Amino acid sequence: MNIALMAHDSKKELMVQFCIAYSGILSHHNLCATGTTGKMVSEATGLEIFRFLSGTHGGDQQIASRIACNEIDLLLFFRDPITPRPAEKNGADLLRLCDVHNIPVATNIATAEALIHALERGDLDWRDIVNPSR
Ligand code: PGA
Repeated sequence: MNIALMAHDSKKELMVQFCIAYSGILSHHNLCATGTTGKMVSEATGLEIFRFLSGTHGGDQQIASRIACNEIDLLLFFRDPITPRPAEKNGADLLRLCDVHNIPVATNIATAEALIHALERGDLDWRDIVNPSR
């Protein structure tokens, strides 16, 4: 599966801890991330992660374009729900594109935990039919 990781600044450490906890599962999949999130997670876990540009330089849009092509099978996007940010940076575009393609997405750690266990159980294997190119 192609898994995309992205975390706003106040959630990056949470993403790191999550990926440490589930590195055994994540290591079986292709990981990509926005620049800073990917750097922090790969340094903390040793996981191989393809890093797009940082979010401020368009890395979120690079992930959005892969989602638009239905090439991402799971998006873990830990959003900061408190800090106000411009409309184009609140992730609504990413989430809309996930809905277009029925891509499983978690915007907080509670849902991410549920999805990572679903991934391990094989509940997301139907994505192999949708996205057989991997
Ligand atoms: P980053 O991007 O991982 O490069 O910081 C995410 C964001 O825009 O917060």
